[in-house]
Amino acid sequence: MTPDPAAQPKTFAASEEFAAQANATAELYTRAEEQGEEFWADQARELLTWSTPFTEVLDWSNPPFAKWFQDGTLNAAYNAVDRHVAAGNGDRVALYFEGEPGDSASYTYAQLKDEVSKAANAFEALGVGKGDRVAVYMPMIAEAVITMLACARIGAIHSVVFGGFSADALRSRIEDGEAKLVVTADGSYRRGKPTTLKPAVDAALEKGGDSVQHVVVVKRNGEDVAFQDGRDVWWHEVTENASTEHTPSEQNAEDPLFILYTSGTTGKPKGILHTTGGYLTQAAFTHKNVFDLKPETDVYWCTADVGWVTGHTYIAYAPLVNGATQVIYEGTPDSPHRGRFWEIVQKYGVSILYTSPTAIRTMMKWGEEIPGEWDLSSLRLLGTVGEAINPEAWTWFHRVIGGGRCPIVDTWWQTETGAMMISPLPGVTAAKPGSAQVPLPGIAVDVVDDAGTSLPNETDGFLVVRKPWPSMLRTIWGDDERFVNTYWGQFGDKYFAGDGAKRDADGDVWILGRVDDVMNVSGHRLSTPEIESALVSHPSVAEAAVVGAKDETTGQAVFAFVILSDQATAENRDAAELAEEIRAHVGREISPIAKPKKVLIVPELPKTRSGKIMRRLLKDVAEDRPVGDVSTLADQTVMQQIVDSLGAK
Ligand code: ATP
Ligand code: MG
Repeated sequence: MTPDPAAQPKTFAASEEFAAQANATAELYTRAEEQGEEFWADQARELLTWSTPFTEVLDWSNPPFAKWFQDGTLNAAYNAVDRHVAAGNGDRVALYFEGEPGDSASYTYAQLKDEVSKAANAFEALGVGKGDRVAVYMPMIAEAVITMLACARIGAIHSVVFGGFSADALRSRIEDGEAKLVVTADGSYRRGKPTTLKPAVDAALEKGGDSVQHVVVVKRNGEDVAFQDGRDVWWHEVTENASTEHTPSEQNAEDPLFILYTSGTTGKPKGILHTTGGYLTQAAFTHKNVFDLKPETDVYWCTADVGWVTGHTYIAYAPLVNGATQVIYEGTPDSPHRGRFWEIVQKYGVSILYTSPTAIRTMMKWGEEIPGEWDLSSLRLLGTVGEAINPEAWTWFHRVIGGGRCPIVDTWWQTETGAMMISPLPGVTAAKPGSAQVPLPGIAVDVVDDAGTSLPNETDGFLVVRKPWPSMLRTIWGDDERFVNTYWGQFGDKYFAGDGAKRDADGDVWILGRVDDVMNVSGHRLSTPEIESALVSHPSVAEAAVVGAKDETTGQAVFAFVILSDQATAENRDAAELAEEIRAHVGREISPIAKPKKVLIVPELPKTRSGKIMRRLLKDVAEDRPVGDVSTLADQTVMQQIVDSLGAK
């Protein structure tokens, strides 16, 4: 659909003061354009410390298998920790850990170096070495980051599995990667109650996972856990007497750093493989320029879990490589109260906050009085990732959390891309709510038709990447063929991300959702984010998800699942009447074609651990079939709640 120019949202430029001090400059784009791959070589030299400098930038002789900086050597943990100590910044805080029950800890770079070295020595003593895989199944505690860095230090490949996943999901990932070691914890805390993790590891290993020789267990909440003699060891016991001296393994730039499985929003999760030099280069570059990081003064907080890619690139690696001070938080945003995020911002003086649209919409639903109770004046930049942010939520985030003064960066990227690909540069790009806007310097993004031909502005198409980029996935673990077919099968010479997109009249990119989710109603293609944005712009709607369900007359019909705002729930209005009002609202906001055939009011939406809506499950409901695979849902009971709530009406 062509957007109505009058309805084009206005843009928000950063203040002059912000722009004057910004790391990013417009010149970055021209430099990247002129220099090509050399641009990335400059970044790699400037942002990382190499043990052996590379002489070759990119080897693309065997596409789509890219090799970046392949004759260089370096170590990721050395770059994240040791070099800051060597540079005299050992006393700077690297990590502030905030536990859900309110306990906290902090680690300077010098302390982090000791902890990572001890863990590296301990893992080596357990027989783990270069190239071995280590499954990490942990809560959001400092030891999760320490484990990832310890693996990187010895050249082992970590495979982090979200702590909320089931024993089966854990086992299949352990088996796919043939992990030698599992690092876990007794448990964690969730909404004030202790939870357990170790029993899921035991269950996973009972039925398989034969490659696993040892399980290292962090004592977090003191819950009783079973121990298998010879296999299981306590973290504190194996690290207690381990040396704080450890020589990092010299890794080739193309040596694997980690495997991470995608969220599985659209199908079976894929084990995405990332390597070292190119990944760290783009991670550090984007973190420095998109977040405008000033390592001496900023306090950075990314609310993601280490179980997804944002927690890898923008918690475990980029901030530390850049020498930042960051906060990590173990728990949920509503424990013990709904102001917990804002309490943390106030407590640590957080200046850069990176979170997800779904978290923002949840906070909106709770009401702006809650953030209003806290001092958020330390914030100077806000970021979002995970899905398109609807303009309504963007504006709220800007006004209520950012006090109208903080630039917002809407960052588009994927597990596969390893780091951000499309985002405004704060101080350079005036932000446009709802659009991820422009490819980052050095990134060649395009919108094409099904033959791979570049499309003009204001035309819907497929989002592709035309040229290799440093942090691109190298393959799907153990399955080169699936890698080639999944991402390069469609267009041959271009990477296909799976997302639909269009450029608006200014050339800014709007993500239109997964191509699998695009709906076709009476021959009109409708994008999910557009209709969902219209739905949440209705005052009674807090969150919304739409799917296209088979329809005899129109081909597909739009089904909308909505969660009401707390206030609307309290009003307790007649559901049919409210649904009709919401339908009419969408008709007015977009067009009568986009009007949902049905608006279903539900208590929750099915989301992955990273907060993404699993529309395929809602489609199952709309098309009246049994609900499909729910194993990667954050809360496995949600689909039952939805089915029950609809059945009751
Ligand atoms: P699977 O590929 O297994 O279905 P997934 O795609 O959900 O899982 P991720 O790699 O975590 O796994 O998510 C990447 C996707 O998230 C992108 O392809 C895009 O659809 C969406 N996304 C991320 N950031 C943004 C953003 N800023 N705007 C719009 N969409 C975004
Ligand atoms: Mg994907």
